[in-house]
Amino acid sequence: MITGKNYIGNQLSAIGNKTFKTFNPLLNIENEWEITEASTNEVNQAAKLASEAFKTYSKISGEKKAVFLRAIAEEIEALGDDLLQVYSSESGLPNGRAMGERGRTLGQLRAFANHVEKGNWVDASIDTAQPDRQPMPKVDLRKMNVALGPVVVFGASNFPFAFSTAGGDTAAALAAGCPVIVKSHPMHAATGEMVSAAVIKAAEKTGMPNGVFSNLNSSGIEVGQALVQHPNVKAVGFTGSIRGGRALFDLAAKRDEPIPVLAEMGSVNPVIILPQALKNRAEDLAKIYSGSITLGTGQFCTNPGLIIGIKSEGLTNFVNTLAEEIVKVEPSCMLHPNIAGAYESNKANAMSQSGIKVLAGYNEDVKPNYARQVVTTVEGNTFLNNPILHHEVFGPFSLVVQCENKEQLEEIIINLEGQLTGTIISDDDEIRTFTSIVNALQNRVGRIIFNGVPTGVEVCPSMLHGGPYPASTDSRFTAVGVDSIKRFVRPFSYQDWPNDLLPIELKNENPLGISRLVNNVRTTSKI
Ligand code: NAP
Repeated sequence: MITGKNYIGNQLSAIGNKTFKTFNPLLNIENEWEITEASTNEVNQAAKLASEAFKTYSKISGEKKAVFLRAIAEEIEALGDDLLQVYSSESGLPNGRAMGERGRTLGQLRAFANHVEKGNWVDASIDTAQPDRQPMPKVDLRKMNVALGPVVVFGASNFPFAFSTAGGDTAAALAAGCPVIVKSHPMHAATGEMVSAAVIKAAEKTGMPNGVFSNLNSSGIEVGQALVQHPNVKAVGFTGSIRGGRALFDLAAKRDEPIPVLAEMGSVNPVIILPQALKNRAEDLAKIYSGSITLGTGQFCTNPGLIIGIKSEGLTNFVNTLAEEIVKVEPSCMLHPNIAGAYESNKANAMSQSGIKVLAGYNEDVKPNYARQVVTTVEGNTFLNNPILHHEVFGPFSLVVQCENKEQLEEIIINLEGQLTGTIISDDDEIRTFTSIVNALQNRVGRIIFNGVPTGVEVCPSMLHGGPYPASTDSRFTAVGVDSIKRFVRPFSYQDWPNDLLPIELKNENPLGISRLVNNVRTTSKI
């Protein structure tokens, strides 16, 4: 049952007087559930409970955290089709997508359970004492990763499961030993409540402290701002727009005690098509890219918003075929009227820029909240001189930049903002003569793709989902895959600490049998 209430630790609570409803974009009507926004009092209570919970939760074993994370996955699964229906009614996304995204979310929770179960992830390093060292004795030092403290998680509208309530950020923070307060996304608050109920059930069943998880509703930015400014909060995980992520980053930096905001934000994901590939298979590539631009109504952070090539007959064939193909795609529904409205105005703004030519766009009437896809083109020089053209248009929109030559192509790449991904399409080994282009692209992106499409983010340890600003606020980390746990820990050293008081990962006996760096040698042996 959906109550519309907040979870303040294990308790449902709705003492505030502001309510709102979520929206079904397919039916173009409000959903029935009345959601109550969290009050200041509830924000403070959740933060207080999270701080209390941190005292014990940060110290529990990896084995117990793994049991908790697996229980969350089980409880989400147990919600069955009811959860999928609520997800679809709040996002317009089809059942198949809901199932796929749920599977990914369960997989992430279980992957983190496996990751922390044993303890290798703490990256233990030990340098034993040398009392006889001359001219000074050497102390005993032992270092490992420890949890940062309570984390606030903001999810994105376009992934109500995988980048939201019990998504990657929450799984990573809980795995690290950090209690989580979710600022529920206003567009899928009921989905958020159902998933939160599953997390709370799992916490109670596995004996986790009250306050290890809270879920706060809001329809505006105030609750999120209050959470980021709260002294008990020690880090923020964010997925969403550059504007939102940057606002929270600035807010956190202004605190008396600044805290990290690990934000994964928008991106235009440049695709570079090299000349030989354009010559050999311009039409095929245009068909593939027409599909990638419109996949999921273009509502992916890895959507190819920018395609770049050097002027040639091949590039002309590419743009002509892309224009023919894009109008064949049946328009689909966006997540919410606000997202559809933002798409229309951002698209119109891009199309009104001087030098922009519309290649093709869907021009028939569409149902409310459906997006009409558009592909545009511009000369390399115009692109270089207009920063507006470098910005994400969230939705089924793409811009093809036509460069004069290889030098201009390189200059354009060098002048791009930081990106989540960059793609190189290359044939006949030509990539070997474009090393400077590849190197320039590597400096601007978090992940480089060879002969593929940027849409699709595999969840595995070698994935890097992040990139130079503004793709993320800290390019040293990934938001996807088990390495994302590193965002919510800090390295910590014990000096000359008694063996029996050390955490299990650093004890001489190495009871967990984990891999440690002992006196500069990697080993699983005891000392
Ligand atoms: P959004 O508008 O930035 O919202 C994300 C969350 O942040 C919401 O809960 C929102 O609350 C909150 N928020 C936004 N601005 C805020 C502010 N100034 N102060 C406090 N809270 C604020 O993003 P979205 O529309 O949900 O998601 C779409 C965007 O996410 C796209 O740009 C997409 O590319 C990006 N995205 C990135 C990734 C990635 O991994 N890099 C993945 C998916 C999506 P309110 O709605 O209440 O303001």
